[in-house]
Amino acid sequence: MTAPQLIDQNPLGPTRNSHPGSVPHLQYGFGPIPEGTPNHRIFLFDIDNCLYERSTMIHDMMQVNIHQYFKDTLDLDDECAHNLHVDYYQTYGLALEGLVRNHQVDALDYNLKIDDALDLESVLSYNPKLREMLIRVRELGRFDLFWLVTNAYKNHALRVISILGVADLFDGLTFCDYAQYPIVCKPMTEFYYRLFDTLRVDKDDKEHLSHLYFVDDSGLNVAAAHDLGFGHVFHYLEMDADYKKALQSPKFTEYYGKGDNKDKSKIKIIRLILDLEKNI
Ligand SMILES: [Mg+2]
Repeated sequence: MTAPQLIDQNPLGPTRNSHPGSVPHLQYGFGPIPEGTPNHRIFLFDIDNCLYERSTMIHDMMQVNIHQYFKDTLDLDDECAHNLHVDYYQTYGLALEGLVRNHQVDALDYNLKIDDALDLESVLSYNPKLREMLIRVRELGRFDLFWLVTNAYKNHALRVISILGVADLFDGLTFCDYAQYPIVCKPMTEFYYRLFDTLRVDKDDKEHLSHLYFVDDSGLNVAAAHDLGFGHVFHYLEMDADYKKALQSPKFTEYYGKGDNKDKSKIKIIRLILDLEKNI
């Protein structure tokens, strides 16, 4: 395993240290954590549409960039670009996967033109309430590690946590490495197994897994974590439409019980990220 990479640089640039938590200080970088690091109780946090709200429409901003990328890179008109984008998304789960497989697109160039090109500061800003909530939870002393787990590439992840002002509150970050092929991301079991290696968690140690906390806005990601034995899984369902869709899922009872957060063996639902605190 490689040594942890430390990050102490503001991804927004040196002139942007205008609020607390704008400079990432992740003591274990991208991991793995050093041998002997206390790791029994780990709180894992998704980033996109989780630490900030889905209603910021960042997802839609990304779709605009992806559409343009299909047009420019493959020399397509709007209709062909749209159809191929939809086709790759439905076939592979990630549009990028189709581009890499079928057109040998450079995934890091894609990242540069999609995620890194987003004008995040036009829609995201310092969130002192989120920062204070996370600090209070850390100060409970119930967690050994706060760890970020994202399907984005590291640049985007660092930009987001810097703008939100929480970049100094986590011990490390696991991201989706677009430089590797095939791409491994949530909810693939392989992604979680690699995460366990990073955090020195034995995938077969049920007692250890029962102490893991995880929050994500994706139903697939939280279901995968629950299936792997994570003890405390939170599904952040911000939008009413997504909440209603989850309630109608045939597997709702299996994963969420009655949906009232009373059954400790089931996934808990939160409708506001700030409600995490009162549900842990
Ligand atoms: Mg997310």
